[in-house]
Order: sequence, then structure tokens, then C-alpha cells
Amino acid sequence: MKSVDLTDRRLITPRDVEVAAEAGATELIVDTGAVLRKPVRLMLQQTGIVLRFGPATRTPSDARPEQRLFHSPEANAIKEEICAVGRKLWERSYVDGNGGNISCRIAENAVICTPTLRSKGDITPDDLCLIDLDGTQLAGALRPTSEARLHLEIYRNSAAGAVIHCHPPHATAYAISGRVPPAGIIPEFDVFVGPVVLTSYETPGTRAFAETVLPHVSNHNTILLGNHGVVCWAATPTRAEWQVETLEAYCQTLLLSRQLGGSCTRIPQEKQEELLAIKKRLGIPDPRFSPDRH
Ligand SMILES: [Zn+2]
Repeated sequence: MKSVDLTDRRLITPRDVEVAAEAGATELIVDTGAVLRKPVRLMLQQTGIVLRFGPATRTPSDARPEQRLFHSPEANAIKEEICAVGRKLWERSYVDGNGGNISCRIAENAVICTPTLRSKGDITPDDLCLIDLDGTQLAGALRPTSEARLHLEIYRNSAAGAVIHCHPPHATAYAISGRVPPAGIIPEFDVFVGPVVLTSYETPGTRAFAETVLPHVSNHNTILLGNHGVVCWAATPTRAEWQVETLEAYCQTLLLSRQLGGSCTRIPQEKQEELLAIKKRLGIPDPRFSPDRH
């Protein structure tokens, strides 16, 4: 076995792999924080060179705290989860082009988020960024999502552990028609998501856009963004993605039911109250819990 040590490199390039292969390397040793993009990983597969992160615990003791946090086992698990959620969103057509963004709060003042201008279908852990709650980038090679402000407003004003913004077609159909799906029709939607609200349109990426969610953050977990898409938040990226699925399936089902004519049958009011009691026990927010409920 011949090893080539590249632990002093921040970014591993295809050329590095090429040079190592020409030198007869069978193993490439890189730093745990090194960035390896997809072409590099593909070349490693093609050349049969084995990748080793090493020494595994070789995070320099004088590394900045945010770097240590960004490369900690906890952060690596979150990055993997964000990438898995990104693939689910893309496979379900909930994101299009480079649209949508995912984030997860890892510390009081630190959030791991997806980068700008990347499809969520094939992002890798090396693509992700670390930002603070003011939006300042702390770590990561790529620039963070331009919708970071939207995510940060939600973290500042709720107990959210993760936020997803995306454009699922049926929910977005409601958001562009100025309507919200009615509640009280399917139990899962009422318990885990609804009722949802619809914000007025603002230009994506702006402070005004991020602030449209503020009046609703404390007693919802999902919002329709006017002429745009949806935003959901939960304890983890996986759970937030479930809410997107629940909302999107609900909107699709309502639209299908219209083809049958007539109107949907409502769950009787007293049974809706039972669902609300379940929701309260699960600790899921709902505007109907507000003291000023009319
Ligand atoms: Zn969007």
C-alpha cells in the first residue's frame, strides 16, 4: 500500500487525485475538515484509491471553536441528515433547480445550512455552511443560502431545531392563489401541521421577506409564503420534512377531491376538539391554543 498525505490541504482537487494516482498511490490521507467535491470522490472511485481521514482526531487544538464545532461528530451527523432530507425533497419534486434550503441549529448561536446555488438533490456534507444567528458565516467553503434570514427569524422566535423552505407544487398552488387549505378534514394534517397561514408576497432573500413570518412563528410550525412556497420548522430536519410531506399530500388530496364535485365532509367539531387535545399533548403549536382565541 502506498499512502499520499494531503492533510495540510483545505480543498482536495481532481488534480491532486490525478497526481497521487500517477505516483501509484492506493490510499489518500486527508484532514477531517478537508473539502472533497463530487468530481474528486468520483475520481477516487475510478482510480480505486481509498480515502482515509486522518488522523481522525487531528483537529488542531488551536483551531477556532467554530471550526471544531463544524467538524464535530454531532455536526457531521446533522450534515448527513440535511443531505438525506435534501435528496428526499428533490426526489419528491418539492424543490426545483437550485431552489429550497435546509438548516439545523447546532448551538445557541450556530446554525448549519445549505449553500446558495446548489441543487438539494445532490448536495454533500462538504457543501454545507455554518452561520451565526446574525447570518455571519463561521465555517464552510461555499456561501450560505440567500434565504438564511428567513431561517434565522424562525430560530430567534421559536424553539425550532430545524427549518426547511421549499416549493412543493400543490401547497404552492394554494400559496399563489391566495388561499389556505381548510382545516378539520384529515386528522394527520390537523394534528401535525395545520391550520396554516398565508403571508403576503415579498422579494425572496430580503429582510422584509424574512419578517413576513414573524406574526405567525409562535403558534404555527408551517407557513405558506405568498406567491412563493412553504416554510416548515420542527425539532429536526427529518421531522420538518415530514411536515412538508403532510402539507403537500393534504393539498394534493383536497385538490383531487374537487374533481369529485361537492364539498369535503368536515370532521365533527367535537372530534376536532379531540384532535386538538392530542396535538396539545404532543406539544405541537396551534393558533387555536392562543388565549385570545375567539
Ligand atoms: Zn424559495
